[in-house]
Amino acid sequence: MKTLKELTRPNVWALKPYSSARDEYSGVEASVFLDANENPYHAPFNRYPDPLQKELKSLISPLKQVREEQIFLGNGSDEAIDLVFRAFCTPSVDNVVAIDPTYGMYQVCAEVNDVEYRKVLLDEHYQFSAEKLLAATDDHTKAIFLCSPNNPTGNNLCRGEIESLLHSFDGLVIVDEAYADFSSERSFLLDLDKYPNLIVLQTFSKAWGCAAIRLGMAFACPQIIGLFNKIKYPYNVNLLTQQEAISLLQDPVKVQDWIRILLQERTRLMDEFSKLSCCETIYPTDANFFLTKVTDAKKIYEYLVSKGIIVRNRTHVALCGNCLRITIGTSEENDTLLEALKGWV
Ligand SMILES: *Cc1c(COP(=O)(O)O)cnc(C)c1O
Repeated sequence: MKTLKELTRPNVWALKPYSSARDEYSGVEASVFLDANENPYHAPFNRYPDPLQKELKSLISPLKQVREEQIFLGNGSDEAIDLVFRAFCTPSVDNVVAIDPTYGMYQVCAEVNDVEYRKVLLDEHYQFSAEKLLAATDDHTKAIFLCSPNNPTGNNLCRGEIESLLHSFDGLVIVDEAYADFSSERSFLLDLDKYPNLIVLQTFSKAWGCAAIRLGMAFACPQIIGLFNKIKYPYNVNLLTQQEAISLLQDPVKVQDWIRILLQERTRLMDEFSKLSCCETIYPTDANFFLTKVTDAKKIYEYLVSKGIIVRNRTHVALCGNCLRITIGTSEENDTLLEALKGWV
């Protein structure tokens, strides 16, 4: 691996971060806060939130079996994705490599940051080869984006290929595990100490049922987390979000129940769906959705919309011709979908 200094944008490496009032004061218990120009009325919303979300990290750390200094929290995983570009990629000089098809935000963030985005097509099983990805890199490739289970295909990427990439690539490897809670595969979080170039992304938006509060997690070595903390907005995770996540983390059994029910429903829905006349193929999935090739994606999508049912039409995505991506809903919602499609001819 290149040194972190070699991978980081020189301006970011040299930067002295903004120091907020909440950063500068820490230590003895204080009761009078006249340092941040806040209004003394309207507690608790009058106070700036903890910029480093220490209480929240202290609950995430044992759950994920990582150290607090290996955790970055952001305004969705999307913030962490954007920070990868802002921290490491010099606009119009550096590039990143990614599998194709995959989650659309990597490319959007690359383009916003004027960073070249190099796509490498998956094979017919939606798998990648480390060798092919490496062949697309050059001296200016700062990062490779992987997503496992992948969106929109649903499958886990081959673990051996990811490991081989982590060993052989001299830049950063991002493994987006937004759907890891639904997967039978072991998380790369457990290998964080083994790979200094690994960044694992997870989120509260899927299994944790908290898409609305915008809370994403990035896990990496403390040096990378330190860089993210240096350039993030000082108060990037608001108080309401921190409070809601803390309360949910005190009841992890609830989340495990949701996951168990959704996995049961996934099996049932896929089973029933495969019997429909419109279904040509269902691809294997380790996520809370599945990709299916249907007889006519556009027409079926529009038919479902007319019935008030929205699925994701992926027909224009690489390797996904005539494919729909279907999220697992409640048992009732899944039945509504099945009933509607039985009326499709
Ligand atoms: C849904 C999803 C996310 C979640 O993003 P947030 O900004 O945390 O809501 C991240 N990565 C992938 C691949 C996703 O599908």
